[in-house]
Amino acid sequence: MGVLSLVAEYMFPQLCVACKKEGTSVCGTCLDLVSTVGTFFYPKNSSLAYLAAVGEYDETGVLSQIIQALKYSYIEQVEHAIAQLIGDWFARQDRTFEVPDLIVPVPLHRQRYAERGFNQADVIANCLARVIDVPQAEPLMRKKKTKQQAKLDKTARLQNVSDAFVIRKGAQVDGKHILVVDDVYTTGATMGECAEILHRAGASRVTGFVLAKGE
Ligand SMILES: [Zn+2]
Repeated sequence: MGVLSLVAEYMFPQLCVACKKEGTSVCGTCLDLVSTVGTFFYPKNSSLAYLAAVGEYDETGVLSQIIQALKYSYIEQVEHAIAQLIGDWFARQDRTFEVPDLIVPVPLHRQRYAERGFNQADVIANCLARVIDVPQAEPLMRKKKTKQQAKLDKTARLQNVSDAFVIRKGAQVDGKHILVVDDVYTTGATMGECAEILHRAGASRVTGFVLAKGE
């Protein structure tokens, strides 16, 4: 740890995102509370074959608080917690989870990326890629600056992401099983749209992975 980060630590001590105890960004006690049993969800009328989720989205739960922290601020400090949860989840997997050829994070629009400085789906995809030892790529680009899905109802969500993504020139997805990664899955509109575009570009199978599945 450098001198500057030591100073920062002293002036702004790390608080656990869940219990607010001083020490680390996610304390061991809270991390142990997260169930990593995982669930599989098979959406109807979707190009997505299935969705694998580490846990459920519950506003007050530790997993949701980690996701909120990742979305709005300190990425580095919660990254180790995410990597550990994904590692625990993967250790429990049997043959239901198919190891893909490629991991693809849901992209942010470049303007939003510039404002935030990182893509939370990318951070999660990175952790997953290391755990399951599969390469990561970015064949998708978000061409439409969509509204935040959380503020819209189901029909509006579908319209919002319709034609939101395009395949990058030269992207190699033909005949590949692609696993699309995001932080949260709710109506599945975003992931369904990504799956549709990837299938049109020649992907043989598209599945999804999220940290938490919401209602
Ligand atoms: Zn805690």
